[in-house]
Amino acid sequence: MPTYAEMGPGELAALKKELERAYEEIKARGLALNMARGKPAQAQLDLSMPLLKAVTSAEDCTSADGTDCRNYGVGFGLPEAKKLMAAMLDDEPDNVIVMGNSSLNAMHDALMRCWTFGTLGSMPWGKLDAVKWICPSPGYDRHFAMTEELGIEMIPVPMTDEGPDMDEVERIAASDASVKGIWCVPKYSNPDGVTYSDEVVRRLAAMECAAEDFRIFWDNAYCAHHLFDDEAEQDRLLDIASACREAGTEDRPFKFASTSKVTFPGAGISALAASPANVAEAKRRMAVQTVGHDKLNQLRHVRFLRDAEGLAAHMRKHAAILRPKFDLVSRKLEEGLSDVGGCLWSKPRGGYFVSFFAPQGCARRIVELAKEAGVEMTGAGATYPYGKDPRDANIRIAPTLPPLEELDEALDVFVTCVKLAYAEKLLG
Ligand code: PMP
Repeated sequence: MPTYAEMGPGELAALKKELERAYEEIKARGLALNMARGKPAQAQLDLSMPLLKAVTSAEDCTSADGTDCRNYGVGFGLPEAKKLMAAMLDDEPDNVIVMGNSSLNAMHDALMRCWTFGTLGSMPWGKLDAVKWICPSPGYDRHFAMTEELGIEMIPVPMTDEGPDMDEVERIAASDASVKGIWCVPKYSNPDGVTYSDEVVRRLAAMECAAEDFRIFWDNAYCAHHLFDDEAEQDRLLDIASACREAGTEDRPFKFASTSKVTFPGAGISALAASPANVAEAKRRMAVQTVGHDKLNQLRHVRFLRDAEGLAAHMRKHAAILRPKFDLVSRKLEEGLSDVGGCLWSKPRGGYFVSFFAPQGCARRIVELAKEAGVEMTGAGATYPYGKDPRDANIRIAPTLPPLEELDEALDVFVTCVKLAYAEKLLG
């Protein structure tokens, strides 16, 4: 079979007619399917129901050190919660602050502290004429929204299959003191599913930065989110804090994680890990902001997940639900699109997304066609700063939420939309 690009105009026009017919048929079904956001499926949420029964009596509310968690106190996390989150963040409990239900919130707070007060004695970023940020792209739209809202100039840097293009990152960080930070989703990245290589982590730690207060926002949202049980099939990430300590840049990283996609999104616990100086500064500021976060929820999480092993066992249950969905995406895209040509997609070993690269100039049209046919996708462009994908090619597929049968149907629709948009494009 020739690829679409190899077909003559007559052949392609006939094919387009066929695709239009197929598309109209799909539209007539009145579907309402969703592959837009990385939400766990109901079956995954059900896995964590015992958590809600972990703290029910007055006795249950006492932490290991005797704190009555129904009351005020312990502003920065119960010792046992720090231990649990230290396991997720690959750090020491002393370097961890346990926070509320959202790591995104924790990142926003960390950014706002730098913005308002500076960090470790530096000039508040909000007082500077210009602040710039390195944005590995495709990336996470909510990160980009945060820096955009503050008027921070976002500089996209291409992702490779080992992490961000480090030649570019190093060049930008070294050349301009207004470049204050970088967004990183270092493991099973959103959306590409890439885990940064050891070399990338070491280069991030060691690179020369024109700004002394350059910060790596290390959003390890998918740190425990493997799709495979066998360790040989799991990605491993070098710890940025250790790499920075070795490179003499220990204050450079802020590490974040949460249990959003471990237990309940929106009702989990989050944490920050950072150097002793950064943690001391954050605590000082946070003590003004809050008396403390929800300790009863910390207790529930510790009793339910216990430790690194308990967490890993729980994540294997998630993986058992998710694996067939990712397999289905792979199979459907392979069957539907390998002969078409011009398309690429990721085959991640963890995380929540498949990153799809359509032929250049087709992504917006594909998402539009899918929407009209009743399949909601993440907006084209959303994975790039300012919503602008320079090649109009990347689409984030989020296969976790729909049940398998619905996902199957949604992928059929998606494949038809890709083919139709590509045929339209080639015919001009
Ligand atoms: N970071 C990344 C990379 C994510 O994909 C998500 C969820 N989609 C979040 C953070 C949000 O995490 P939380 O619920 O802890 O705010």
